Amino acid sequence: MGEMHDYHGQCHCGAVRFTARTNLVSMGDCNCSRCRRLGWVMQSVPAADFSLHSGEEQLALYHFNTEKIDHLFCRNCGIEPFARGSDGKGNEMVMLNVNCLEGAPPVDRSTISHWDGANF
Ligand SMILES: [Zn+2]
Repeated sequence: MGEMHDYHGQCHCGAVRFTARTNLVSMGDCNCSRCRRLGWVMQSVPAADFSLHSGEEQLALYHFNTEKIDHLFCRNCGIEPFARGSDGKGNEMVMLNVNCLEGAPPVDRSTISHWDGANF
Protein backbone atom coordinates (compact mmCIF):
# COMPACT_ATOMS: atom_id res chain seq x y z
CA MET A 1 0.00 0.00 0.00
CA GLY A 2 1.13 3.49 -0.66
CA GLU A 3 3.12 3.13 -3.82
CA MET A 4 2.89 6.15 -6.08
CA HIS A 5 1.65 5.49 -9.58
CA ASP A 6 0.95 7.62 -12.63
CA TYR A 7 -2.68 7.08 -13.52
CA HIS A 8 -4.21 8.07 -16.81
CA GLY A 9 -7.74 9.31 -16.62
CA GLN A 10 -10.41 10.62 -18.92
CA CYS A 11 -14.04 11.58 -19.19
CA HIS A 12 -16.42 9.16 -20.91
CA CYS A 13 -16.01 10.44 -24.48
CA GLY A 14 -12.24 10.91 -24.14
CA ALA A 15 -12.15 14.63 -24.93
CA VAL A 16 -10.78 15.32 -21.45
CA ARG A 17 -7.56 13.43 -20.71
CA PHE A 18 -5.14 13.76 -17.86
CA THR A 19 -2.41 12.07 -15.85
CA ALA A 20 -2.21 12.16 -12.06
CA ARG A 21 0.37 10.80 -9.65
CA THR A 22 -1.13 9.28 -6.53
CA ASN A 23 -1.03 6.29 -4.20
CA LEU A 24 -4.82 6.27 -3.76
CA VAL A 25 -4.48 5.92 0.02
CA SER A 26 -6.95 8.61 1.04
CA MET A 27 -9.96 7.92 -1.13
CA GLY A 28 -13.33 9.01 0.07
CA ASP A 29 -16.90 9.66 -0.84
CA CYS A 30 -19.13 12.43 0.40
CA ASN A 31 -22.79 12.78 1.29
CA CYS A 32 -23.27 16.40 0.18
CA SER A 33 -26.11 17.23 -2.19
CA ARG A 34 -23.89 17.04 -5.27
CA CYS A 35 -21.59 14.12 -4.43
CA ARG A 36 -24.55 12.00 -3.38
CA ARG A 37 -26.01 12.47 -6.86
CA LEU A 38 -22.71 11.82 -8.62
CA GLY A 39 -21.80 8.81 -6.53
CA TRP A 40 -18.15 9.47 -7.17
CA VAL A 41 -15.13 8.41 -5.15
CA MET A 42 -12.49 11.10 -4.73
CA GLN A 43 -8.76 11.17 -4.22
CA SER A 44 -7.05 14.54 -3.79
CA VAL A 45 -3.64 15.23 -5.24
CA PRO A 46 -1.49 18.38 -5.21
CA ALA A 47 -2.08 20.37 -8.39
CA ALA A 48 1.61 19.84 -9.27
CA ASP A 49 0.96 16.09 -9.53
CA PHE A 50 -1.80 16.57 -12.09
CA SER A 51 -1.43 17.24 -15.82
CA LEU A 52 -4.35 17.97 -18.10
CA HIS A 53 -3.41 16.77 -21.58
CA SER A 54 -6.53 17.70 -23.51
CA GLY A 55 -10.02 19.01 -23.12
CA GLU A 56 -9.58 22.23 -21.14
CA GLU A 57 -11.92 23.97 -23.61
CA GLN A 58 -14.45 21.15 -23.19
CA LEU A 59 -14.77 21.66 -19.45
CA ALA A 60 -17.85 23.38 -18.08
CA LEU A 61 -17.64 24.93 -14.63
CA TYR A 62 -20.19 24.38 -11.89
CA HIS A 63 -20.20 26.14 -8.53
CA PHE A 64 -22.49 25.65 -5.57
CA ASN A 65 -22.62 26.27 -1.84
CA THR A 66 -19.44 28.13 -0.81
CA GLU A 67 -18.16 28.06 -4.42
CA LYS A 68 -14.71 27.06 -3.24
CA ILE A 69 -14.52 24.03 -5.47
CA ASP A 70 -14.43 24.24 -9.26
CA HIS A 71 -16.51 21.30 -10.38
CA LEU A 72 -15.54 20.62 -13.98
CA PHE A 73 -17.45 18.38 -16.29
CA CYS A 74 -17.18 17.53 -19.98
CA ARG A 75 -19.69 19.47 -22.10
CA ASN A 76 -19.97 16.53 -24.45
CA CYS A 77 -20.43 13.49 -22.21
CA GLY A 78 -21.32 15.13 -18.90
CA ILE A 79 -18.77 13.28 -16.79
CA GLU A 80 -16.85 15.12 -14.05
CA PRO A 81 -13.39 13.53 -14.11
CA PHE A 82 -11.91 15.94 -11.57
CA ALA A 83 -12.49 19.13 -9.61
CA ARG A 84 -10.13 21.89 -8.58
CA GLY A 85 -9.89 23.40 -5.13
CA SER A 86 -7.54 23.94 -2.22
CA ASP A 87 -6.69 22.01 0.93
CA GLY A 88 -7.64 24.75 3.36
CA LYS A 89 -4.03 25.88 3.79
CA GLY A 90 -4.06 27.56 0.42
CA ASN A 91 -2.41 24.72 -1.49
CA GLU A 92 -3.95 24.07 -4.89
CA MET A 93 -5.42 20.60 -5.09
CA VAL A 94 -7.14 18.48 -7.69
CA MET A 95 -9.86 16.08 -6.59
CA LEU A 96 -9.75 13.10 -8.90
CA ASN A 97 -12.82 11.06 -9.75
CA VAL A 98 -11.24 7.66 -9.05
CA ASN A 99 -13.85 5.98 -11.26
CA CYS A 100 -12.32 7.84 -14.24
CA LEU A 101 -8.80 6.45 -13.72
CA GLU A 102 -7.59 3.67 -15.98
CA GLY A 103 -6.11 0.69 -14.19
CA ALA A 104 -7.16 1.82 -10.72
CA PRO A 105 -8.08 -1.10 -8.48
CA PRO A 106 -11.78 -1.61 -7.79
CA VAL A 107 -12.92 0.62 -4.96
CA ASP A 108 -14.14 -1.10 -1.81
CA ARG A 109 -16.45 1.54 -0.39
CA SER A 110 -16.37 -0.06 3.06
CA THR A 111 -12.68 0.83 3.41
CA ILE A 112 -12.73 4.46 2.24
CA SER A 113 -13.40 7.68 4.13
CA HIS A 114 -16.91 9.08 4.27
CA TRP A 115 -16.97 12.85 4.39
CA ASP A 116 -19.98 14.40 6.00
CA GLY A 117 -20.24 17.15 3.41
CA ALA A 118 -23.97 17.43 3.96
CA ASN A 119 -23.31 18.92 7.41
CA PHE A 120 -20.23 20.92 6.55
ZN1 LIG B 1 -16.38 13.79 -22.42
